[in-house]
Parts: sequence; C-alpha cells; structure tokens
Amino acid sequence: MSVTFKFDNSYARLPEEFFHKVAPTGLSNPHLVSWNASAAQLLDLELDEQSAPSLLALLSGNELPAGSDPLAAVYAGHQFGQLVPRLGDGRAILLGEVVNRKGERWDLQLKGAGQTRYSRFGDGRAVLRSTIREYLCSEAMHGLGIATTRALCIIGSDEPVARERMETGAMLARLAPSHVRFGSFEYFYYARQHDMLPVLADHVIDRHFKEFARQPDRYAQMFDQVVETTARMLAQWQAVGFAHGVMNSDNMSILGLTIDYGPYGFVEEFDPGYICNHTDEAGRYAFARQPGVGLFNLNCLANALLPLVDAETLKAALMRYEARFTGHFYELMGDKLGVPVNDDEGRAFTDRLLELLYKNRVDYSGFFRELAEVAIADKTPVIDNLFTDQAGFYHWLRDYQNRCEATGVTDAERKAAMNRVNPRYILRNYLAQTAIEKAEQGDFSEVDRLLELLAAPYTERPGFEEYTQPAPEWGKHLEISCSS
Ligand code: AMP
Ligand code: MG
Repeated sequence: MSVTFKFDNSYARLPEEFFHKVAPTGLSNPHLVSWNASAAQLLDLELDEQSAPSLLALLSGNELPAGSDPLAAVYAGHQFGQLVPRLGDGRAILLGEVVNRKGERWDLQLKGAGQTRYSRFGDGRAVLRSTIREYLCSEAMHGLGIATTRALCIIGSDEPVARERMETGAMLARLAPSHVRFGSFEYFYYARQHDMLPVLADHVIDRHFKEFARQPDRYAQMFDQVVETTARMLAQWQAVGFAHGVMNSDNMSILGLTIDYGPYGFVEEFDPGYICNHTDEAGRYAFARQPGVGLFNLNCLANALLPLVDAETLKAALMRYEARFTGHFYELMGDKLGVPVNDDEGRAFTDRLLELLYKNRVDYSGFFRELAEVAIADKTPVIDNLFTDQAGFYHWLRDYQNRCEATGVTDAERKAAMNRVNPRYILRNYLAQTAIEKAEQGDFSEVDRLLELLAAPYTERPGFEEYTQPAPEWGKHLEISCSS
C-alpha cells in the first residue's frame, strides 16, 4: 500500500530565485534505522507492515510522493563571522509542505538527499553518525520544551561516504513549520535582489504571523518577534546547558527553532568556556558566548531588512534583546531552583551558584535534581560532597534555604516543581557515542532506547540509573567536529 500525503507547497510557489528544484538522489539498499512514532503523528503516519515498504521508498529518496515538489532552498549566512553570500541546502531537499488532519502544515525535508546546486564541494550526503546525533538531540530538545525542528526517522544504507574515515550514508527525515533562516533574508540582501525581500517576508508572515499580516508595519513586527523568540531560545539553551556549536546565521531559524544539529553538546561539568565543536579553536561559539552570538546574528538579519524597515526601528528592537534574554533566563533559573530569582539580588545569587558550579566542576544537570532533595531545614546535606569549596557552598546554601523559607513553599512542593523542569536525563555525548557505535555495528536498540528516555526527560525510570551518570573517563573528551 503506498503512503500518500496531502501537500500544499507554498514555498515551491515562490519565485524561482528562491530555490533549485531538484529531486532527491535515493540511497542504495535502504533500511529503517529508527522511527519516531511521536513525530510521525504530526503527519498522521503509522508504521506497520503495510506502510513500511512505501515509507522506506519515499523517505530514502527512492520514490517521490505524489504531490511533492522537491527543492533545495537558497540562503546566505555569516559563518564564524564571515559573510558567505550563497550557501543554500547543499544536502537537504524539501519534499513539500504536508497538511495534516488538524490542518497543521509541516515542511517534510530529507537531509542527506544528494547534491544540489548549493552543494559546493560537498557530496550531498549525511552519515549515519550525524543523523543519529541530530535525531536524538532534536527529540531531546523537544522533550525539554525547547522549540526545535523534529526528526521523523533515520534511513540507513550501505552507501560508502568519505569523511575523516569511511562511513555509510544515511538520511534523516526532518519536520518543521518552516526552514526559513536568517540567512534566507541575507541572501537576497547581498545578491542585491531587494525586491525579493518583501516576498520572503510576506511568505513568512502569511504562514506564521497571521496576527499582523495586514498591518503596514508588519515587517517591523516580524523582526520584533524574531528578537523575542531568539532571546527566549537562547535563554532556554543557557538554562538547560545546551551548546549549539555552529551558531552561524544560516543555522538560525526565523521562528526561533533550534535547527541544524552538528557538533552540539550539553554542558556536563559546568564550564562557561565549554566549546563543543572541536573545529572552533577560537571558541567563538563557546557556551557562555551564545547569547551574544544570538545578538550578532540578529544584527545580521536586521541589516538584511534595511530595505524594508527603517534603521531606527530595527535598532530599537535589537536594543530590547538583552533585557528579554536576561528576563527569560532568570525566570527559567528560578524555575530550576524552585524559588524566584528574577530580581537584582536573585540574579546575583544565581550567578554565585554558577560560579561555584564552575569552580567545583559540578555536573550541571545532576546538581539541580540533587538540590531538589535538600530539605530547607537540613544544615548538612549530602550534596556538600560535590563541592571542594565547602565554605562557598554553605554560604550559598544558607542563602538558598532562607529564600525558600521566605516563600513559604514546602520541601515536597519545591521538589515536585523542580523535578518538573530539571531533566533527569540529558543527551550526554558519551551516551550518543555509545548509541552510534552500536548502530554502526547494526544494532539500533540503543538509539531507540535513548529516544524514548529523552522524550520524557523528567520522569525517573527504574532500571535507567546508569543513564544519569556523568561521563566515564573515555567519554569526557570526545572530539566532535563539523564534518558530518
Ligand atoms: P551546516 O554547517 O551543516 O549547517 O552546513 C553549512 C553548509 O554546508 C550548508 O549550506 C549545507 O547545505 C552545506 N553542507 C554541509 N555538508 C554538506 C555535504 N555533505 N554536501 C553538500 N553540502 C553540505
Ligand atoms: Mg546549516
């Protein structure tokens, strides 16, 4: 039985300057590596014996679904601070926009689908390792309540693909309300096709910002929205300890979705200087620099919007970024701590904690789950063993307990509230690495197990204690680079 979709391809109806219409290059001998039933619901898909062969053919690029209109989108970007005036989808192909039963519209994109006009020197492929990394992390972010692209499935193959070593080609089916990037606007600005900027902006507004679609200042409002969603996304990344690794402006979604998972990492032993991307020698995208890079990228976008919005309005929106980021960040930190900290004193108190976690090399995610167990009246809690600076820790803890006491929250209430926002399970690099190594041997069970665990990261699961553990020695210094 062949699987059908209801497509309505609004992006493909834009002027031809926006894309290269190209069909996927199918993978040879495809097989299903992992299927994400929760993402599949977004397309009303079910994997069963009848649908499996058709899904495999469609999602490995070997057959085109009826009604699709495949294309590679063009965009530009600032990569590590340098303008690249034309990038574009070099290995991702948008099959089209699927409208589900609820009337929601989802871009269905195949990543690793072969060469396009924008492949430059690349082979258009993705390897199994990198698709697993994106698959697991995008679902982990979704589980953490952070807006992100979704991952429907991974298809593996026997196709050799050369990276630092020989690997095999794979394809990720990716879903998103939109794949438009900051760099999509930059492309038309630097190509001096300024008449395309309102076409792109109106497309985005019609699709996603209906509430101000008819207003004369809609472009200014769109930019203000992007500032807000970007500030919020960055606050979430910082609060959860996520480092993206390649925050180029072509990897910044116009909807504030976390997109393009490459050499990302979650901070384990807390370190503001954490660099997850081995290739990023200067640490441009180090963990604590991310909020500032968010602003840099918004500046890139603002610049590209100059033909549409006056400079003063753009500047005023940019000026609001920092306060928005900071407000969201301390709101989230208050949630993590189980006590509000979004005032001057509370912010300083939170910063002191981060400093302590850094100096004592404390496991970031683990700390908040353990703090939830500490009673307000407990003057010598066992978590003191995480800190070599005992005086510093107890000084902070007394302030913490006083703050909790002042709010009147009970220990049980605070614990329950904290455990609803502090993940028990995060995607530690060594966990992803273990799943990848098994998958490369043909055993995909660990990918499925992690997917299930990370989709509900707050829920304690008996039998999964080892997944909460900090990295073993071999897993502490894994080198993850851009080559994927
Ligand atoms: P990324 O750093 O993965 O976001 O990719 C940056 C740019 O390089 C984008 O234009 C990608 O489409 C392109 N690219 C990355 N890997 C490949 C590849 N294997 N083949 C062709 N293009 C690629
Ligand atoms: Mg990218």
